[in-house]
Amino acid sequence: MKKIYILLITLVFYSTSAAAVEKFKFKYNLHENLPKKWVTEFKNIMNIVQEVMPINENTNDWVKNNIKSTNMKQGYNMDIYAWKSTKNPFPEKRANMKYSGIEGCNSPEPWMQLDIFPQDYTSSINKIRTYTVIVHEYFHVYQIALSHRDRCLSENSAKWLVEGGAKVLEEIYSRQYYKKDLLKSDIQERKRWSIKKVTKEPHLYEKHKTSPQKNGFDSNYAGSAFIVLALVNELKKNNISQEKAFELVFREFWIQRAKQPSGWNWQTTFKNTFGMTLDEFYEKLSKYKRKDLKKILPSKTLTVQDIFS
Ligand SMILES: [Zn+2]
Repeated sequence: MKKIYILLITLVFYSTSAAAVEKFKFKYNLHENLPKKWVTEFKNIMNIVQEVMPINENTNDWVKNNIKSTNMKQGYNMDIYAWKSTKNPFPEKRANMKYSGIEGCNSPEPWMQLDIFPQDYTSSINKIRTYTVIVHEYFHVYQIALSHRDRCLSENSAKWLVEGGAKVLEEIYSRQYYKKDLLKSDIQERKRWSIKKVTKEPHLYEKHKTSPQKNGFDSNYAGSAFIVLALVNELKKNNISQEKAFELVFREFWIQRAKQPSGWNWQTTFKNTFGMTLDEFYEKLSKYKRKDLKKILPSKTLTVQDIFS
C-alpha cells in the first residue's frame, strides 16, 4: 500500500511539472562565420526579450494551436537564421537568403533571418545595431503572435505602427542596455525623412510601397518612428502615463487587432485602442514641427520592463 502511495505522489508531482506553460520555441541556426561575441550577445538578448515579451500557449488560442502544430511537425516553432554576410549561408535549408527580417510571412512557417554585415563591426554604433536588430525582429514575431496574423503584418495594419513601433522599441532597448541614444540622432538627420510628408501626408506611411525605406522618406524608419512618438505624446495629453502609452502602442493595439477580421480595417482597432479616430490623430499630427522631436522623445530612464510589466 505504502508503495502505491509513493507511486501516486510521484505521478501527481510529475504531471504538475509536466504541465508547465509551453513556450513558443525558436531554433537557432547560427552560421560558424559569426563573431563569438555576437553569438553570446544574441543568446543574451533572446533571453531578455522572451522574458519581457513572452510568447507562450497562454498568449491566446491562435498561438497555442500554432505551437501545437509546428511542434508536431518539427519539434519547435520558428527558425532563426543568422550569418555574417556570405552567399547562400544555409544552402541546405533555404534558397539564397539576404537581409534581416521576418520572411515567408505568407507561408505556414515564417522564419527570422539576421544578415550581419562585416563592416557593421567597424564602428561601435553599427555594432550596436547588429544587436538591436535582434530586438526589432523579435518584436515583429510578438506583434504577429498577439494579433493572430500569420500573414505579412503591414498588409493588415499601418506600416508606421508596425515598423515605427519596432524601431522605437529597439532604441529604448539600446539606450537601456548599451547607453546609446540612436533614436534621437537618426530622427534628427534631415536627409532621412521629410517632416512635410510625415505631417501632411501620413497615409503614405501606412504602406511599404508608398513610403520606401530610403533617404528623404523613411530611412531607418525614422519617419515612422516620429509618428509613433507623436501618438504617444497625444496619449499622454489624455492623462495616460508614458509607460501605459507605449504599452498601448506596443502591445494593446495588437491584442485588439486580433478581435477584428483580417483585411484593411485596422482603423477600427486604432480607435478602440487609443480612444481617438485615425483622422483625429492625423489632424493633431499635422501641427507638429521638426523641433518638437526634443519634447516627444522617450524619457531617458524608461526601461522595456517598465512598459511591459
Ligand atoms: Zn521591421
